Amino acid sequence: MPARPDPNHQSAVDRLTRASGPIDVHVVSGQPATIRAGAERSWLPHRPWSRYLNSLLLIVVVTVAGQPLRLFLSPTNVVMLYLAAVVYAAVVWGRGPAILASVLGVLAFDLFFVPPTFTLAVSDTEYVLTFIGLLVVGIVVSTLAAQAREQAEAAYARALQTGQLYDLSRGLAAAAELDELLSVLRRHVEKTFGRQAAILLPDGENLALRAASLDLALDEDERAAADWAFRHATPAGCNTANLSAARLRYLPLSTARGALGVLGVMGPAQPDRHLLPDQVRLLEAFASQGALAIERAELAQQAQQAEVLRAGEKLQAALLNSISHDLRTPLVSITGALSSLQEDSAALDADARRALLDNARGEAERLNRLVGNLLEMTRLEAGAVRVKSELVEVVDLVETGLEQLRDRLGDRPVVVDVPADLPLVPGDFVLLVQVLVNLLDNAFKYSPAAAPVEIRARAAGDAVEIEVADRGPGLPPEDLGRIFNKFYRVQRPGSVTGTGLGLAICKGLVEAHGGRVEAANWPGGGARFVVTLPLPPAAPHG
Ligand code: ADP
Repeated sequence: MPARPDPNHQSAVDRLTRASGPIDVHVVSGQPATIRAGAERSWLPHRPWSRYLNSLLLIVVVTVAGQPLRLFLSPTNVVMLYLAAVVYAAVVWGRGPAILASVLGVLAFDLFFVPPTFTLAVSDTEYVLTFIGLLVVGIVVSTLAAQAREQAEAAYARALQTGQLYDLSRGLAAAAELDELLSVLRRHVEKTFGRQAAILLPDGENLALRAASLDLALDEDERAAADWAFRHATPAGCNTANLSAARLRYLPLSTARGALGVLGVMGPAQPDRHLLPDQVRLLEAFASQGALAIERAELAQQAQQAEVLRAGEKLQAALLNSISHDLRTPLVSITGALSSLQEDSAALDADARRALLDNARGEAERLNRLVGNLLEMTRLEAGAVRVKSELVEVVDLVETGLEQLRDRLGDRPVVVDVPADLPLVPGDFVLLVQVLVNLLDNAFKYSPAAAPVEIRARAAGDAVEIEVADRGPGLPPEDLGRIFNKFYRVQRPGSVTGTGLGLAICKGLVEAHGGRVEAANWPGGGARFVVTLPLPPAAPHG
């Protein structure tokens, strides 16, 4: 048995419309290309008088063309020609011209075809019926044809409006920022209604003009009407019931949250060219589409601000944490060592004193590095880092970096592989050493004391790559994208101290040289950082 349609079945559109409550749902067919072509045609509420002239000419033509037929057709058959002319006039020019054609047709038929010709007198009474028939058929056919035509025109106008609405929503969806969105709305109103437009949004207590057609200025009275429309969320101005002396018609841009602004559209240039009811409805649909888009843009902006604020707060918390913990720990150790030396110096032997001093010095250096990092980061962020451009030997960089970390090195094996023919790198020697020191410092910090650390350099096309690799635990793959962020630290068990600034500084410094730094894991275990520094185009290779 064939499945019967379920009477309770509702289409997706029905369900959506029911569920949407106060939200407007516009159903738009997906044929933008054909509808778009129509959208450019202007509205023609008043059709020209020349249609009546055409109708008259058609009857003249039929009468002239019918003359030779008189010889072999009876007059009643000639009537068919007039009937055809009336139908043609009805279909092509509308009801008025068709009625004119039927009246003129009857007269012409009587004058030129019914004996006695050239008078309106009728000799044969049977023609009276023909006259009436022609008139009635003419009027009926023309009325039906005109109705069909009007329905087609109405359907066309609706398709046109839907297309215009669809165009607008596509334009609004593509606009990324509020100002862009407002200018999309203004342009669509101008194009669709052929009138100047203005959009006002609240700015503190008052409305501010945010988008307006060229040469459109709003005086005090106009602003008062716009303000009224905004405060009462009701249309005001030209051709409305409120403050109708204004030049523009002001529509509130309302959503469920209330009025978000006002859309102003210039009144008619000539007093009789009012917007038709259909056009007013379309304008209102434009206003509600615009309002929804503005609401979306404002919500997105608020979300972004909240995100920035949240990130800022996180940063402050991290900074406070880092300062309170990482600054205080070495200070406590140094103060403790110094007070022991001061108070118990008599009780301490030379070795104990040296151990205390070493400890205090190590902590002071750590503190120095930390404060240096914080300062460097601040300078980088403020754009205050000046990069000198000198030609630097990579091998010198490596040697100076290792020299600076001599105390940390101990017995750790360090493999250095820098080819003798490596090109000189343009850059700032001091800053590039700092990049290497930070990477090496991490490699020493995060790998076992006896594990080797490798420093390799090589030419790679128009750049030089410097790689620092260790055999420690490596980096969690999910953190690879984040470890260069400020204050980002990988959470690990153990007590390796740090601030999460070292790699962020590396990145900032390398980028200030036009290069990049990347992190990866060795397949065999351990982390691997590669700094790529660009060579100038004419640098001597080899
Ligand atoms: P920190 O002061 O914490 O060392 P960095 O910015 O230098 O800050 O490093 C960020 C994070 O990256 C560190 O918390 C650390 O876990 C991880 N990391 C950096 N270098 C290495 C490495 N060579 N091996 C393993 N993890 C590393």
